Amino acid sequence: MAKPPLIWTNVIIFTSTLLATLVLVPWYQLTIGFDMFVITAAIISLFYCGLSITAGYHRLWSHKTYNAHWSVRLFFAIGGAFAMQNSALHWSSDHRVHHKFVDDNDKDPYSAKKGFWFSHIGWMLRHYHADTYNDYSNCRDLQKDPIVMWQHKHYLALTILTNVGFAVAVGLASGHMMGSLIAVGVTRLVLSHHFTFFINSWAHMWGSQPYTDKNTAKDNALLALFTHGEGYHNFHHIFEMDYRNGIKWYHYDPTKWLIKILSMVGLASNLRKTPQVKIEQAKLAMVLKRSHQRLDLRHDAEEMKLKLQAEYEQLVVKLNAFYSLKKKLFEDKKRKLVKEYDLKQLREQLNDLQESFELQRQAWLKLASHA
Ligand SMILES: [Zn+2]
Ligand SMILES: [Zn+2]
Repeated sequence: MAKPPLIWTNVIIFTSTLLATLVLVPWYQLTIGFDMFVITAAIISLFYCGLSITAGYHRLWSHKTYNAHWSVRLFFAIGGAFAMQNSALHWSSDHRVHHKFVDDNDKDPYSAKKGFWFSHIGWMLRHYHADTYNDYSNCRDLQKDPIVMWQHKHYLALTILTNVGFAVAVGLASGHMMGSLIAVGVTRLVLSHHFTFFINSWAHMWGSQPYTDKNTAKDNALLALFTHGEGYHNFHHIFEMDYRNGIKWYHYDPTKWLIKILSMVGLASNLRKTPQVKIEQAKLAMVLKRSHQRLDLRHDAEEMKLKLQAEYEQLVVKLNAFYSLKKKLFEDKKRKLVKEYDLKQLREQLNDLQESFELQRQAWLKLASHA
């Protein structure tokens, strides 16, 4: 079958900016040398672009994981144009299709099953889905957001204005116009592009699958460093309504921290979080599934399978009891419904339950790992 026609604008932008970066950065560094002010401005711009995509395009608009004040939305809309990744409306439409039909080679716009090149950049180089964008029908909600529609309408002007404007402004302020055009203008754009593209390619190929193996999405802590926290993609694909991607406090997820800070100063609200009990249960279910898969290779495994299944069910009951007691403790405390004495008793109960749950979990994981 003949390939769809090339999208020349994209081919030229991606190729020329990459070539310019590869040639101009070493040349400029060896002949003149980058100024510290310019380098700092380029790094800040890189974060501005990246976070506008992750916190704005992705977690706010595509997934509605929180609500944001208009000033924040405007800030992300401008940053998204600066990142040159199409309008928020177009981007979110693609992304919602990606989640709905993940890995479906016909429907997922950047299906990782079509290989690294295609999911990284190839999907943007040809008219693969020319018929998809007639009305953005999967983004009716976003069409009610005047900032999204304003950005969509003026996308081209905003893109040129931000990409030329920021680089020229830093050039004027530092007195190093050429250096700024190379670092803030071009290099920042190339890095920002490929760091985001990694989420569609790398994050669907290399890493672990602690929560689900129903799609190719992987958790990858190294990738999180480049993608402002979006490397925890296995978690994201199963719990897409969560404003976090890295759920542990030590997971590098600056997007999550930014959203949290915005909520603390009143600029974001309704931050959605998956109940911890669901997360734990997904993890346990994956361990069970993997053990069963291993046992399938043995013909004497029926008994072991039944044992694991029974233990798993017991564990899930305990898990639910633990989290509902925890919730009750938390709510009672909040409402000040209980006396200090009752609270102490409740807390002891919780500790006992947690201890026995942990013991059973350890024993079960051992059993499952030998399966
Ligand atoms: Zn997503
Ligand atoms: Zn994905």
